[in-house]
Amino acid sequence: ISEGLDVLRTLPCETPDGHRMPLWVNTGLMADVVRAQERGAEGVGLYRTEVPFMIKERFPSEKEQLAIYREQLAAFHPLPVTMRSLDIGGDKCLSYFPINEQNPFLGWRGIRVTLDHPEIFLVQTRAMLKASEGLNNLRILLPMISGTHELEEALHLIHRAWGEVRDEGTDVPLPPIGVMIEVPAAVYQIRELAQQVDFISVGSNDLTQYLLAVDRNNPRVADLYDFLHPAVLQALKLVVDGAHAEGKPVSICGEMAGDPAAAVLLMAMGFDSLSMNATNLPKVKWLLRQVDMPTAHALLAKVMCIDNPQVIYSTLQLSLRSLG
Ligand code: PEP
Ligand code: MG
Repeated sequence: ISEGLDVLRTLPCETPDGHRMPLWVNTGLMADVVRAQERGAEGVGLYRTEVPFMIKERFPSEKEQLAIYREQLAAFHPLPVTMRSLDIGGDKCLSYFPINEQNPFLGWRGIRVTLDHPEIFLVQTRAMLKASEGLNNLRILLPMISGTHELEEALHLIHRAWGEVRDEGTDVPLPPIGVMIEVPAAVYQIRELAQQVDFISVGSNDLTQYLLAVDRNNPRVADLYDFLHPAVLQALKLVVDGAHAEGKPVSICGEMAGDPAAAVLLMAMGFDSLSMNATNLPKVKWLLRQVDMPTAHALLAKVMCIDNPQVIYSTLQLSLRSLG
């Protein structure tokens, strides 16, 4: 198997009829970097910056953050690294910044926290920008956006941080900026959001949770949590079409992208890249290299007419089994 993986690593993720699908990875700790490189990732679609924050006893300073981000950016250079601004709250807590709420997933999390604490957002953005000097492979991604007002505020702060670091002598271009689509409200505002950014990335973990009103971490309702639910698939298609109508590339960085059968559907929908856990990357690449685009499109068309998630799942299994 390791020999098979080795060969696969160097092969492109390309369907038999020549459609390229870049496979990116999700990272958090430096340990993820090595695994990502061993598996031939073409970039980082989601670097969860809260992970290094979670293993500290206090907020890391701008200088400390700069060093952490520089390490990520340098490790993948010249490949792009998509750094998400701090996404705390919900299930991700910092011991030194407690948030106690009855409904944390519907509460103060992600961009809501950092817009209320612009000093946290500005320090983080400044650190990212300084870390990218001379490398220029940084992309900034904004989590939990639910409307244009939040995006505009965040863009304003990014421009402010960019002005500040340039005044201090750091010579960096403004990096590409993207928005995560993980709140249902954002699905229906995809065109307005896409107009203001350079790229779109779907967070299917939260989008599934919020669309289906099913806690992503509650074992009691785990069988209701299903990214193959027809409502999720319809929402994903709306996002791809909306982003493309505005001429913007769209990626997906939730666990769904690392499921080989789901990846076939995502490719057929028109996603421009898939970002996943490095562990799943070889399986996804292997399957996409077996499925040509007409087959993928036919499968998607079939699945989009089915209203039962279980039937969608079995249809996918049955259709893809012949490929191994
Ligand atoms: C998501 O919600 O799909 C996502 C990628 O972000 P996280 O899992 O960190 O919330
Ligand atoms: Mg999320």
